Amino acid sequence: MNIVLVGIQGCGKGTLVSGLSEHFEINLISMGQLLRDEIATNSELGKRIKSIVDKGELVSDDIVIDTLNNKLSTIKSGITVFDGFPRNLSQAEMLDNVTNVDLVIHLNLSKEVALDRILNRLTCSDCGYITKRQLVKDNICPKCNGQLVTRSDDTIDSINKRFKVYENETFPILERYSKRGVLVDINANRTPDEVLKDCLKVINEYND
Ligand code: AMP
Repeated sequence: MNIVLVGIQGCGKGTLVSGLSEHFEINLISMGQLLRDEIATNSELGKRIKSIVDKGELVSDDIVIDTLNNKLSTIKSGITVFDGFPRNLSQAEMLDNVTNVDLVIHLNLSKEVALDRILNRLTCSDCGYITKRQLVKDNICPKCNGQLVTRSDDTIDSINKRFKVYENETFPILERYSKRGVLVDINANRTPDEVLKDCLKVINEYND
């Protein structure tokens, strides 16, 4: 089963993925994380990707598709969750060419709440765990004791740019999936547990 997560930055996709992985063995394709992994290698490609990501723009479809194909070649059967891909209509078409999309979960959140969440977000540089600044001491990850950091693209300029990109390029893919009858809208302005509970229900219905 292939599940696509869509939502404005800060809507809780990463947190939902952590919750889902405690219930199912999932293959995760997090495009943002795969790109950050390439950046961390300090390769020429990684440096090019970093300059785009830090500005809040979308990395070119060519780079994203290569990254996707590399990752897909390692995927086992079962539930695969696509987080942050597709992000525009051409990527949605490309995904249709390589696999089927069974369910699209739209984590629906207002821009105002999303902004507040992103500005308070810390991410573990070791395990990827996401938490709120107010909930931790000394920026130590409660899951793995790694270092919690602010993502380098979580600046006001980059966030505003990403919101625009989301509205103009990503939002239109929802109509495509809605017409196909695979789109489910989830109110993301609730606690992670409430959101997870609804998503598990929907996944179990679609997985039957
Ligand atoms: P995320 O971790 O999903 O917030 O993504 C962080 C950044 O990675 C985005 O702001 C983009 O610069 C880049 N990125 C992630 N996914 C994609 C994608 N599907 N297409 C192009 N760029 C992407």
